[in-house]
This record gives sequence, structure tokens and C-alpha cells, in this order.
Amino acid sequence: MKVAIIGGGIGGLSAALQLLQVGLDVHVYEQAPHIAEIGAGIQISPNASRILLRLGLRAAMDAFGTRPRAVHQRRWDDGRILQRAPLGPEVEAAFGAPYYHFHRADLVNLLADALPQERLHVGHKLTGLEQKGERVIARFENGATAEADLLVGADGIHSRVREFVFGPEKPRFTGCVAWRGLVPAERIRHLGFEIVSYCWLGPDGHVVHYWVSGGRMMNVVCVVEHGDWTRESWTDKGEVADVLARYEGWHPMVRSLISAFPQTFIWALHDRAELPCWSAGRVTLLGDACHPMLPMMAQGAAQSIEDGAALATLLKAMPDDIASALARYEAVRKPRATKLQEASAANRSRFHLPDGEAQRARDEALAASGDRSIANIGWLYVHDAAEAL
Ligand code: FAD
Repeated sequence: MKVAIIGGGIGGLSAALQLLQVGLDVHVYEQAPHIAEIGAGIQISPNASRILLRLGLRAAMDAFGTRPRAVHQRRWDDGRILQRAPLGPEVEAAFGAPYYHFHRADLVNLLADALPQERLHVGHKLTGLEQKGERVIARFENGATAEADLLVGADGIHSRVREFVFGPEKPRFTGCVAWRGLVPAERIRHLGFEIVSYCWLGPDGHVVHYWVSGGRMMNVVCVVEHGDWTRESWTDKGEVADVLARYEGWHPMVRSLISAFPQTFIWALHDRAELPCWSAGRVTLLGDACHPMLPMMAQGAAQSIEDGAALATLLKAMPDDIASALARYEAVRKPRATKLQEASAANRSRFHLPDGEAQRARDEALAASGDRSIANIGWLYVHDAAEAL
């Protein structure tokens, strides 16, 4: 079976490796002239890392990834710890795979390097798509064409594949704006940050930060409500003074961290409503192309990796019945991805509560049981997308 994957991001590359592993003839077509990721971090939880480990990537993941010991949720002004949950050896023991923090470029490069280079076609921007009987024909801006038995759109939130199949519909601006930055360790050594994932919760905003690149840099994401910035580009530059103004009154550690940004980038957070279905004929979608979500569960990329695992197992089991494999793919993947889209949206409201009764109830609940405790997060991390079919 010949499979064409459009998009060489985390979802497309990891799906390609998994399809190759089950013996399919797979090619990836990426619009960018070379595989490149922006400077930012990404958290990869055990439900996704177990899939990458099966691809034989453990040594590279251990070399490039940082292994956080815990997650701390803290109050915005006095820094009180609202919840402390493990992410280190306890999580690996409970779920059979570690929790990692990566620099995005490291993760994407290790996936791209694992793929035979003749299967990765950069500089191929999809501009046309046609289904003829049992074949799918993709056309690219550079004049090239590709034919396949199955085409997978892994081309992100602005997916052209989705548009070709389901019609045009723009992503929704959520009202949240994120500033992100990478802070070199030497600029913040005096702040004494541990190797944990920090999440500071406050009125109308939150801040997430964690070490990447073996502790050489701190990845920082500052999200606020009511942003008036609506552009979505990883390369739009922001002003540190604007971030500090939005975080007036926040804990000195947060403000010092923001002040240490060598450069900050501004990004408007978008999402989309649930799609009624993911496939049409011999074309299907994965990752942000079909289920973009807010980052408040840190699961967008993880879910795209899970999609690839499910697709690989199902196509291997039903090589002569692509329609049934795609129907099953959607039946198992869509409810889980939709649940995470909803959980991410719910976390946005919980994280950004103004001080008051609802905030006190949230903090009491966090202290009492903790939504990130091993027991409470088990449903998410224990899942094996290659088997739960
Ligand atoms: P993308 O990463 O968007 O890749 C799509 C690829 O398709 C790109 O390479 C693009 O160039 C290519 N492409 C697009 N159009 C075409 C075309 N016409 N032809 C050819 N190629 C094309 N997720 C996590 O799991 N953990 C986290 O900690 C986390 N943190 C996040 C923090 C922030 C601030 C944000 C905004 C998101 C975060 N996410 C996180 C979500 C995660 O970044 C995305 O869900 C993930 O990158 C989606 O991967 P993808 O491969 O589906 O799409």
C-alpha cells in the first residue's frame, strides 16, 4: 500500500515512521524547503513517548530530552504551591514510559533523521487533490505530482487537505494570546528553578515554563485572555515590556523570568470545532489538521503521535480494506481527541479564574486530590493507541 502524508511536522513524521514500521510504502511531502522547527519547547507525556520508544528512538530521546521530576502548579501572586505531582521515575514506573521535555527542533530533527531521506520530500507544498477510483493524486506548487492508495493530511491547523475534502472554514481565534521565549540558563540561575514543570495560575492568565535542551534553556509560555493580537505565526516578535505590563503584580520569580527573555514571540491561540468526520474516500486527517486544541493539556502533538499509532495498527490489520480501517480509525480516535479538545478548553477557564469563590474551590480541589496525580491522570497516560482499537 502506498501512502502519501502531507506535512512533515511531529504528527506527519511520527506517522510515517510507524507506517513504515508496519511495512507500508510511505512518503512525506512538506512545504518548507527544509525540515525546521521554531525555538520553543514541547512536553511529551507517556501516552506519546511509549509510541516513540517503540520506534527505537530511546537513546536519542534520552540524549535530547529533559526528564522533569514533577509538575508544580502555583498561585500567581504569592507563589504558594497549589499542587505538586510527580512526573519523574514514579510516572515511568506507573505508565511504562517517561515524561519528556524537548526543544521542538530536537524532536522534529530526530524524527526526520529516523526516516529514510528518499521518503521525505521537502519543498512540496500541496496545491491540489483529486480522488480517481482507488487512487489519490496530489499536486504540488513545484509542479510535481504524487499518486497513492491513501493520502493522510498531517498539515496542521490550516490544513489544505481538510479544506479540499471538507470545504473552507477558518480556525477560531480563542481570545487567548501567548508570548513565548527561550531563556538561557545563565540568565536565571539565581532564581533557583528546579527540574520541574511550573504552571502559575492567575486572573486572566497563566505561565508555563520548563527546562529544555538538557537544562541549557528554559522554555516559557505566557498566556493571557483578551489579547488583541490575532495573527498566528511562530515568528512574530513581541515586546518584553508588553508581557511585563500584562503580568503586573505577579510573583517576582515570574516577572524576573519574563525580564530575562532575550526575545519574545507573540502568537494568537486558535482552535476549531469538532469535525463531523475525518475521512472521505481514501483521504484522512491526523493531528492539528482534524483536532487542533488549546495547549492547556499539553496534548496536541501527543494526540497526533497517537493518531499515527492507531492508523499503522489498523492499516496493517486490514491492508485490503482501507475503508474499514479508516472507519475504525475515526471511531477510536475521534472521541479521545475530542475529549482532550474539551479538557484543554476547560483548563483554560480553570487556569484563568479571578480570585474569589470559584478560585478558592479550584485551589482546594487541587490540594485535596490533584488533577495531575498518578491516579487522576492515569486515563490519559496509560492509553496505548496502538492497542486500544
Ligand atoms: P504541525 O506541527 O502544524 O505540522 C504541520 C506541517 O505541515 C508543517 O510542517 C507545515 O509546514 C506542513 N504543511 C502545512 N501546509 C502544507 C501544505 N499545503 N503542503 C505541504 N506541507 C504543509 N502539544 C503537546 O503535545 N505538548 C505540548 O507541550 C504542547 N505545547 C504547545 C504550546 C503552544 C504555545 C502551542 C501553540 C501548541 C502546543 N502543543 C503542544 C500543540 C502542538 O504544537 C501541536 O498540536 C502539534 O505541533 C501538531 O502537530 P501536527 O504535525 O499535526 O501539525
